[in-house]
Amino acid sequence: MLCSIAERVYLISRSSALVGHKDLMGSCSNARNVELLLSANVLEIVGDNKVKGIKVKDAQGIKDIEVDGVFVELGYIARTEWLNGLVELNEKGEIVVNNKQETSRAGIFAAGDVTDTPFKQLVISAGEGAKAGLAAYNYVQRLKGKPVVRSDWKTLLTNK
Ligand SMILES: Cc1cc2nc3c(=O)[nH]c(=O)nc-3n(C[C@H](O)[C@H](O)[C@H](O)COP(=O)(O)OP(=O)(O)OC[C@H]3O[C@@H](n4cnc5c(N)ncnc54)[C@H](O)[C@@H]3O)c2cc1C
Repeated sequence: MLCSIAERVYLISRSSALVGHKDLMGSCSNARNVELLLSANVLEIVGDNKVKGIKVKDAQGIKDIEVDGVFVELGYIARTEWLNGLVELNEKGEIVVNNKQETSRAGIFAAGDVTDTPFKQLVISAGEGAKAGLAAYNYVQRLKGKPVVRSDWKTLLTNK
């Protein structure tokens, strides 16, 4: 996407080869305004109030590159250590939820990338957030013996 709007794009990766969707990787490698820097590490983003450049280390040494912007994409890790056994996690550290966004612990709901949903997308996270909100509302209503939101929205008179 950046190739079509930026004068020059530096694609910097710590690995020795690009990994990802083959078609996308191909269009990156073939674009004339994309410079690939492989086996390289960004040491510093340089600038005061505004990004002016980056300091990059690769096999040739350390170089300063002038850039107007930096987009960081460093993979995906669910930061759930702080939960410390409170709710069940899968082997990737993601919070296990059911289709009502309920976790293994009653009254705790989870939504978004941090859950074990297989697709990490904005609309999915937002939808899960909506479900978690409604499920949490129903949880509290049930505790109070009050009506809950039902899927048909027609009646709130049951707590089933
Ligand atoms: C480079 C990139 C491109 C993407 N492109 C697309 C796209 O084109 N279309 C699409 O649909 N999706 C895209 N996604 C995925 C999308 O961004 C995510 O699915 C979505 O942002 C997940 O929303 P979320 O609310 O679950 O998590 P996040 O948006 O990650 O929000 C979690 C928030 O919690 C904060 N946080 C973390 N730990 C704590 C803590 N202990 N205490 C307080 N706050 C904390 C974080 O700082 C963050 O602000 C992209 C993701 C990336 C990284």
